[in-house]
Amino acid sequence: MKKISRRTFNTTLTLGLGMMVNAPKACAVQKRADKKLGIALVGLGSYSTYQLAPALQETTHCRLAGIVTGTPEKEQKWAEKYNLPKESIYNYDNFDTIAKNDDIDIVYVVLPNSMHADFCIRAAKAGKHVICEKPMAVSVAECDAIIAACKKAGVKLSVGYRLHSEPYTKELMRIVKEKTYGEVRYVAADAAYNSRGNPNQWRLDKALSGGGALMNMGVYSIQSAIYGTGMNPTSVTAQEFSTRPEYFKDTDETITAQFEFPNGAVGNIFTSHNANINRHFSTFDKGWVELNPANNYGPLSGRTSDGKVLEFPHQSQQGLQMDDFSKHIMQGTPNVAPGEMGKRDMIIVEAIYQSIKEDGKKIPLDLGMMGIV
Ligand code: NAD
Repeated sequence: MKKISRRTFNTTLTLGLGMMVNAPKACAVQKRADKKLGIALVGLGSYSTYQLAPALQETTHCRLAGIVTGTPEKEQKWAEKYNLPKESIYNYDNFDTIAKNDDIDIVYVVLPNSMHADFCIRAAKAGKHVICEKPMAVSVAECDAIIAACKKAGVKLSVGYRLHSEPYTKELMRIVKEKTYGEVRYVAADAAYNSRGNPNQWRLDKALSGGGALMNMGVYSIQSAIYGTGMNPTSVTAQEFSTRPEYFKDTDETITAQFEFPNGAVGNIFTSHNANINRHFSTFDKGWVELNPANNYGPLSGRTSDGKVLEFPHQSQQGLQMDDFSKHIMQGTPNVAPGEMGKRDMIIVEAIYQSIKEDGKKIPLDLGMMGIV
């Protein structure tokens, strides 16, 4: 008889239990003609309306199966447009009954940032896999609570970091990983847009957003600095700038921050709600890579120091992202944007705010490989 080591036994046991936890969901999918996972979008604002729902019409491994909205007028409109059954339409109050709906496997939370934790935890308790939009939450403690709830319920968790499924970004990650141009020395990551709209929007209200530019676009800069070096930073120093305090009454307008990395590389990030920029630059001992634009909905554009122009066919980033997560659930492929990645980024966000509060003091970070896939 083949001997089984304690480690193999534990792994087998864990896999076995994991499969048991997910068994009803797997059966429900197998019974469906299209074998696609059903996704319910929570919050039908601009991102759900113009990006996620259209992307779900083209996905291979998942489809739009339900909606959760606080606006009754949207119910019928969406039901007609996307042919959604009445039983798969929820509001924020009856949302928890989604537990009984076998047609929905994944709940995708697309609400203002301070509402993410509550709805992700409720989704996990309902036994649904969870995608949480970025930023994952408004504090590290909330990220921990979401991760714990998903773990307890035996469901998978991912953050809506679409660029981890995007081909230009994946090529940058490959170059960094394979050290195509040698050791990385410096990364610059800028993500900003000029906000001139409604001064009462939730993004400018700290109670709903958790913060300003840093919580919104800054998360892209943090992400980009990390996948552009392949390492987590070991320290951060940060500065805040304000030129329109009458508009940005409650949230940060512009933030810059500097990172140190374990190999001595340095990073500089810029994020703002008062400038338009969307750029990544990594330089190595023997060359450099630039993406510009680097984090919009695409197509992105990229070039390298040896004259290569990166070129990939354009596909919806959101579609690729949701298909990647569905494959992770159904086929066990890697989770390219797990909850730990969202939590790590929130640790860095909190360290940046702390540095600003302490007049640019260097804040050490002890992240190890946390969130690096
Ligand atoms: P939005 O303002 O367009 O939509 C927000 C939705 O939340 C609306 O349907 C609104 O009715 C609902 N809502 C419920 N309670 C609310 C409240 N108290 N105040 C305001 N709205 C409330 O926002 P959005 O652009 O769709 O962003 C939603 C989430 O998606 C945010 O977390 C944002 O960071 C994220 N997002 C991610 C990307 C990305 O590229 N990954 C892009 C855009 C937005």
